Parts: sequence; C-alpha cells; structure tokens
Amino acid sequence: MLKVSGIETYYGKIQALKGVSLEVEQGKIVTILGANGAGKTTTMKTIAGLLKPKNGTVEFLGENVTGLRPDQLVKKGISLVPEGRAILSGMTVLENLEMGAYQRKDKEIAKDLDTVMERFPILKERKSQLGGTLSGGQQQMLAIARALLSKPKLLLLDEPSMGLAPLIVADIFKIIREIKDAGTTVLVVEQNAKQALKIADYGYVLETGKVIIHGPAQDLLEDPRIVEAYLGRK
Ligand code: ATP
Repeated sequence: MLKVSGIETYYGKIQALKGVSLEVEQGKIVTILGANGAGKTTTMKTIAGLLKPKNGTVEFLGENVTGLRPDQLVKKGISLVPEGRAILSGMTVLENLEMGAYQRKDKEIAKDLDTVMERFPILKERKSQLGGTLSGGQQQMLAIARALLSKPKLLLLDEPSMGLAPLIVADIFKIIREIKDAGTTVLVVEQNAKQALKIADYGYVLETGKVIIHGPAQDLLEDPRIVEAYLGRK
C-alpha cells in the first residue's frame, strides 16, 4: 500500500533522514521505533507531505505521491495524527470532528460522525465542550477520531501514547487495534516499544536517520538487540 524508498529529508543543512525505506501492507499495523531524534517524526511528516524529501520516493497505492501537499494526500487517503495532537482548543469537540471531514463532499458525513461518536462515547458526551478542556487522553482520542473522519485508507499516528497515564495508554492501543480491525491500515510511531510491537504486524527501528533493524513484530519482541535497547527495563 505504502512504499517509501530511500527518502532523505533535510532541515536546512541538517540531514535528518539518510535514506529511509519502508513498506506498509494493506490491512496491517506497522510500527516505527527508535530513540529521540532518530528521525521518526521526520519520516511521518515526509510521508504526510509536511516535509519534502530531497531524494527518494513515496508511493501510495502504486502511485508516486512524493512532494504532494498534505491536503492532496488526505484526499488520496493518507491522514496524519501529529505528535502533540494539534487539537483546536478554542473550538468544540464537534467542530474539531467536523474539521476532519472538511475535504469530503459525500453525503455520509453525518452518519460517520455518529459512528465515530459511538466508538468514542466520551466525545459524544463532551461534544459541546471546548477541545482545550479535555484531558490528554481525551484529546488524543479526539485527534484520532478527527483523522478517521477524513476516511483514511492509511492512518499515520505519531506517538499517540505520549504523556498519557498507563491505563489510558492501554485504551489508545486497544483503539488502534479496533481501527485496524475495521479495515484501516495503520503506521504508528511509538516510544512505547513493547506495547506497540504487541499490536503491530511489522516493525522498523530507526537510528540516526536510518533503518537499522526491521522484521515481523513477533520476531522483534524477541530480538536481543531490541530487548536490550528498547524493552529491557520495562
Ligand atoms: P522524537 O521522539 O524526539 O520526536 P524523532 O525520532 O521523531 O524524535 P525527529 O523529530 O524526526 O526525531 O528528528 C530527527 C533529527 O532532525 C534530529 O536530529 C532533530 O534534532 C532534527 N530536527 C528535527 N526537527 C528539526 C527542525 N525543525 N530543525 C532542525 N532540526 C530538526
């Protein structure tokens, strides 16, 4: 579904990605792991069109989409939930959700809003409340729900569990599984390696702008290099 080949992305003269290649198969959850500064967010931003790679290509459903704008990629079916969620704090929960569907022209939006609110009852309960008044976990759910309203084929999640209490983190991982089960493919960046690998089908480990290890998630959970660096003390 997604094929990233040798992307090199820069911030000015700083090369953040030194030729990252990865693939995401339709219907799977794929996770990207790595230490701070490894290039995970830069990879996600490059796929979502927020950054343009200097070299390399991004193919989506067989089409070269390298360098397209984020709104063009949303139309093609790629939606990003950024690190830090980017909730519109001065708008209500409902308005935030409606923003997710702003590019759609079909007549199913009202129905999909209902479906999303059924999946996230807390958002239904708080639909008239301002986004900024929600807890961190609720904001993450709102950000995910908003992205789902663009009807993505591929959902990109950048550190969805960041800063959340363990019980809420478990909820978020459960939601990611449910999203996959409902037919949406997921690429998720996580610091929480163990839980991410438990729900993922396949994983990539980034280090200083390069993929250093990749394989089926089950294998990575038992890979001594991963256990040592990412799972050991958890
Ligand atoms: P984190 O978990 O901290 O978000 P990450 O793996 O997502 O880490 P990136 O944010 O992709 O890492 O950063 C990759 C490299 O690019 C790092 O060396 C970082 O310092 C650098 N970098 C990131 N954003 C910028 C920026 N806006 N300007 C300059 N350098 C940047």
